[in-house]
Amino acid sequence: MNLGNLKNIRIVLIGTTHPGNVGASARAMKSMGITDLVLVDPQAFPHPEADARATSALDVLQNAKIVATLHDAIEDCGLAIATSSQLPSLRWPEIPVRELGSKVLNSSTDKPVAIVFGRERTGMHLDEIQQCQHLVQIPTNPDCRSLNLASAVQLICYELMMANGIEKTPVRIKNEYGAQPTIDDIDRFHKHLFATLEDIEFLDPEQPKLIRQRLIRLFAKAQLDQNELNIMRGILTAVDQKK
Ligand code: SAH
Repeated sequence: MNLGNLKNIRIVLIGTTHPGNVGASARAMKSMGITDLVLVDPQAFPHPEADARATSALDVLQNAKIVATLHDAIEDCGLAIATSSQLPSLRWPEIPVRELGSKVLNSSTDKPVAIVFGRERTGMHLDEIQQCQHLVQIPTNPDCRSLNLASAVQLICYELMMANGIEKTPVRIKNEYGAQPTIDDIDRFHKHLFATLEDIEFLDPEQPKLIRQRLIRLFAKAQLDQNELNIMRGILTAVDQKK
């Protein structure tokens, strides 16, 4: 994962009342590769509960900047995005959460981009939303729209990390149907298959290997389980005995 592109992304928390939420937000950020945290007029910070909830993201807390107003937090940014569980009555330019990442990453190459989160009880005030160019609402169950602050931070940071791109981790191929044969079992099956196919003169030992590779790929796609592999070996043995 190239975390460099996420360096210019700033998380701004306005007027937090629970220090635990600040710690949990720092952890949510760092786990997604985002480390720039600015706190606007926090009610209890620093605080041991914030440290406890941050766990391995203590450095994000220690480097957090504390400022008095939202303007102080975002004045050097090229773009600021408000987050809210409610849409204001005067609709503000919304960005669908799945489009947030590309929007933010495009702008953050130039100047910092701020994602702004509101107070636990009252969210962002209208005048604060209006200092931001866009608004993002994370889709939720309409009967329970409001997320815990750190959960909202986690989801937004996850979207940003996914938009930035993660290295594809190899998927372990799990055989859904039965015991998985070992690589060695499969290797021995391939050898048996080719020997039998040469015996019955389907394969020419002198010929190029393409057909062997295609057969290997065919069985790789089939992901034989141990029973199926035994059946294939049984068929080959029966063919061998016919000669
Ligand atoms: N009653 C408040 C709750 C705020 S929760 C309200 O509805 O605004 C604290 C913060 O978490 C919010 O200000 C917002 O920044 C973020 N948040 C919570 N739920 C969210 C959602 N569904 N979409 C976007 N942000 C959300």
